[in-house]
Amino acid sequence: MFIRDLFGKNGPVVSFEVFPPKADAPVEGVYRTIEALKDLSPGFISVTYGAGGSSRDRTVEIAARIRNGYGIEALAHLTCRSHTAGEIDDICEELLDEGVQNILALRGDPQPGDATDRKRDFAYACDLVRHLRRNHFGNFCIGAAAYPEGHIECQDIDKDLDFLKLKVEAGAEFLITQLFFDNELFYRFRDEARRRGITVPIVAGIFPVLNAAQVQKIVSLCGVSLPPRFTRIIARYANSPAALAEAGVAYATDQIVDLLAAGVDGIHLYTMNRPETTRRIMGNIDQIRKTASPEGREKG
Ligand code: FAD
Repeated sequence: MFIRDLFGKNGPVVSFEVFPPKADAPVEGVYRTIEALKDLSPGFISVTYGAGGSSRDRTVEIAARIRNGYGIEALAHLTCRSHTAGEIDDICEELLDEGVQNILALRGDPQPGDATDRKRDFAYACDLVRHLRRNHFGNFCIGAAAYPEGHIECQDIDKDLDFLKLKVEAGAEFLITQLFFDNELFYRFRDEARRRGITVPIVAGIFPVLNAAQVQKIVSLCGVSLPPRFTRIIARYANSPAALAEAGVAYATDQIVDLLAAGVDGIHLYTMNRPETTRRIMGNIDQIRKTASPEGREKG
């Protein structure tokens, strides 16, 4: 099934992201995560991709298992910066052979081993989206990434939105955002995207914080802003891991409750392969989701 067909039917689409274990770690760990999440009936589960191509086999294998073993729609992330067009076509064939019909088309971050002397087939994600449309038309539903506060490399959020529009015009059929901790910034971004004629579903990426070290890493990698309400929580509970994890669940729940009330198209939970946190959050929003769905509204 194409993910684009999930939107606008039974209320906001809730989905999860998992990542493949490192090459030297057993792959079973991620299956335990999916096993623990499957009865929550997510709209889809996405699997990340190592930008250098390191997790290529595992991403295809895990996406195939999500779809064919667990009967859940799979979204395979695919980064293009370190690949030739031929390599991308090979991966598409592998996905197609496994019946995986959804790709999140990404550029990926520069990798230390990236060849600088070879011809680069793809400079930006929009080039990958265009390539997938041209060479694999009809086989895949294509999603792309979006950045409510602008991508970290882009100094001008207006330009970032212009590039996002190009990506959608090239064929991206839905967008998943980078994590954010301030919903108001998401709403501002969504309004601006709509004003520019970006009409595809925009799924909000939500990251439940588990420890203080994660927050530092996120800020340096993604440049997201931390609202005072959030930094107060981190400062107060930084040395008390159990309390901080609890507060992280509460904060993410609070964000989602607000997003559902604001009519978000979907919620994508970054699970960090920690199913218990995801289960807690899903339990917290269960009744609210039912009410937010068209069926629930009729009953209510
Ligand atoms: P692009 O859309 O190409 O944008 C990259 C930068 O180039 C931006 O600053 C943009 O403003 C600029 N730009 C875009 N188009 C143009 C143009 N035509 N001309 C000039 N400038 C342009 N990384 C991984 O390695 N693996 C993953 O699995 C993965 N999953 C992700 C999932 C989500 C939901 C998100 C939000 C990010 C994910 N990333 C992943 C991170 C992503 O690869 C990085 O953020 C990367 O730096 C940008 O990727 P992109 O696809 O957004 O790139």
